[in-house]
Amino acid sequence: MKKFNLPVILLNGIVLLPNNTLKLEFDNKKSNNNVIEMSLSFHDNYILVISEYKKNKTKIGVLSKLENILQLPNGNTRVDLRGIRRVNVIEFLNMDTDEPLESIVSEIEPQKIDNEILIINKLKKELKKIVQIVPYISNSFLNIVEKETNLDKFTDLVVSNITNDKERLLEYLNNTNSLSRAEMLLKDIYDEQEKFKIERNLDLKVKKEMDESQKEFLLREKMKFLKEELGDSSKESEIDKLKKRINDLDCPKKIKDKLTYEMNRYESCVSMSPEINIIRDYIEWLLCLPWNNYTMDNENLKQVKKSLDESHFGLKEVKDRIIEYLAVKKMSNNQNGSIICLVGPPGVGKTTLAMSIAKAINRNFVQISVGGLRDESEIIGHRRTYVGAGPGRIITSIKKAKSNNPLFLIDEVDKMNSDYKGDPSSCLLNVLDKEQNKYFSDNYIEEDFDLSNVLFILTANYIENIPDPLKDRLEIINLQGYTEYEKLDIAIKHLIPKIIKKNGLNSDYVSIDNNTILKIIRNYTKEAGVRELERQLDKIVRKIVTQIVVKNIKINKIIITEQNLIKYLGKEKYKYNEKKKEQIGVVNGLAYTPYGGDVLPIEVNYYKGKGNLILTGSLGDVMKESANIALSYLKANYRYYNINYKLFENDIHIHVPEGAIKKDGPSAGIALTLAILSCLTKLKIPSSLAMTGEITLRGHILEIGGLKEKSLGALRSGINKIIIPYDNDISDLPKEVKNNIKFIKVKNFKDVYEVIKND
Ligand code: ADP
Repeated sequence: MKKFNLPVILLNGIVLLPNNTLKLEFDNKKSNNNVIEMSLSFHDNYILVISEYKKNKTKIGVLSKLENILQLPNGNTRVDLRGIRRVNVIEFLNMDTDEPLESIVSEIEPQKIDNEILIINKLKKELKKIVQIVPYISNSFLNIVEKETNLDKFTDLVVSNITNDKERLLEYLNNTNSLSRAEMLLKDIYDEQEKFKIERNLDLKVKKEMDESQKEFLLREKMKFLKEELGDSSKESEIDKLKKRINDLDCPKKIKDKLTYEMNRYESCVSMSPEINIIRDYIEWLLCLPWNNYTMDNENLKQVKKSLDESHFGLKEVKDRIIEYLAVKKMSNNQNGSIICLVGPPGVGKTTLAMSIAKAINRNFVQISVGGLRDESEIIGHRRTYVGAGPGRIITSIKKAKSNNPLFLIDEVDKMNSDYKGDPSSCLLNVLDKEQNKYFSDNYIEEDFDLSNVLFILTANYIENIPDPLKDRLEIINLQGYTEYEKLDIAIKHLIPKIIKKNGLNSDYVSIDNNTILKIIRNYTKEAGVRELERQLDKIVRKIVTQIVVKNIKINKIIITEQNLIKYLGKEKYKYNEKKKEQIGVVNGLAYTPYGGDVLPIEVNYYKGKGNLILTGSLGDVMKESANIALSYLKANYRYYNINYKLFENDIHIHVPEGAIKKDGPSAGIALTLAILSCLTKLKIPSSLAMTGEITLRGHILEIGGLKEKSLGALRSGINKIIIPYDNDISDLPKEVKNNIKFIKVKNFKDVYEVIKND
């Protein structure tokens, strides 16, 4: 047996079989270089490859050849190792030294195998089968082995294509019997086929399971349908309903997208989640808003005017303004202009007129009151992150309106407050501003809602209290208090028919003459508007209805007279045209209050003191200044008015009842001056006289506002003479006022004094 020496390469973990080639890169270690060097120099490029070295156990190596040796720039060496045949390893040399590893090997005798071709053919047949069945075994090697007739070579060529398991490859390597290797190969081919079949079955099972889940889905759908049929409103059926509503909703695309997004969130939420109701509520809000719903305006102006005249007496200015608004809109197809604000005392018909306008022009009507409002989120809502969040009053009302162009009445804009929670009046400005309200954004809704088609009408009692920035944008229309005869007209034409109808009676069932109505107005009410009057008339009719129903009395007609009025309304509440006395130190001023005009008695007393001026009765700064001017003026002119100057050393106390009501303004100037003068000089002042006018330090009397309301209030209180500033115009005062009250115009306080002296 021939022995020879060979340098050795140890491949730890990589298996090189004969008839296979391996590309390797050696690093720049000295030992590697020496082995390669030795092979090239002394062994004609032959080398022994040991795939796995185990001390005393490694008996087989592969005689190989180094080919295509390449020195790389980094100093490494790249080679192709071509396995040639197995050899027996007799001994390893230099195992534990620094010398290149060497071995002593001997050749293995080739075997003779019977039926070698038959075996090869069998293997080929099985190989062809497996490459067809198992997709991950490539068929490319079949060409290479097609013509191979040596079993030894055949097996080595095929093995690496069938398995890449290292242990199995080592078994092939160490098996020197080619027949035995052929059997191994056959077994591996069968195993691979089996493995593949198992995997495929597993896949089929998984697929079947997937089919099962699809089946389950279909069954669930059927169940859902059955539940719906049975009226069981589970979440799924609700989802379907919501989806249908979203689909049917007429709204901008952005809103639809948002709804779809929220719907997906809703669907993915488990029913126990606290968020689910929040999302559900939000979806409901978006679904309920009239994004694209609107009503068509009645543009028949004659019809509108007729309908407004039928519902409300007088109020010409507002009615004309509404007609003008409609006319402009009809011409330009554009809702233009400023916002109308109706200002006037309570009960003059602001709210009901707005309702009638809505009805006449065919708009839906909604109303909010902003009186006492501090927090701007009341108007524009809270963000959804808040617990219990919801939209503000604007969006809530728009939802109620069911159209995006309702008539929107905002009441009491003079009673808003602002504090740390924001300024509701500036927030309201954004709502009303035509430029901005096209993109009105409520904190809760998040998406813009177009308010530009809404017809806003505002109301207030007292113009002075409307915040200035808001006032600038408004078109103020004053609705003044009514005179007695206007009230009488309203009662006959509007209130009585309305009340009788409301109580289900026939119109000729109740008869009430004009004098009786006037008595109610004079002795049972004291107001600028007609709200109290309506209440009193309602009381009468209710009593009649009760008589008929409870006592079952059969009556053809009930006549209300001045005499039997007491039966229905009780004792008179106010005395009218009472005989007034003369008084000292008390003068009637006139005030313009949110409730209409009224008489404002001013009382003055003096007592021993240090010359102080004491003011009580909730007087504002301007009114306090007026009192000081009055006193200074009288001190400066004491001689003219025959005042004992020593009296000014007393304390002078001015009180304006009623103490709890705040009063301000300069118009009480002459009344204050006259009250002090009367007190100090015992000048008698008739109680049927009233006065209004601002006084300067020199005694000049300046023009004042609100004369119509003041004179109406004076008339109600039985005043028959009013001193007014020379510059005030009385031409547009109601006839009734002018017929019953004498107006005396004055330029200077001295004129006032003359009037009193000559009275
Ligand atoms: P405001 O809003 O100014 O306080 P309302 O509109 O509530 O007053 O009016 C109170 C009542 O008086 C209503 O029943 C209304 O019909 C009636 N009213 C007021 N003014 C008139 C008027 N000019 N014509 C007919 N009815 C009137």
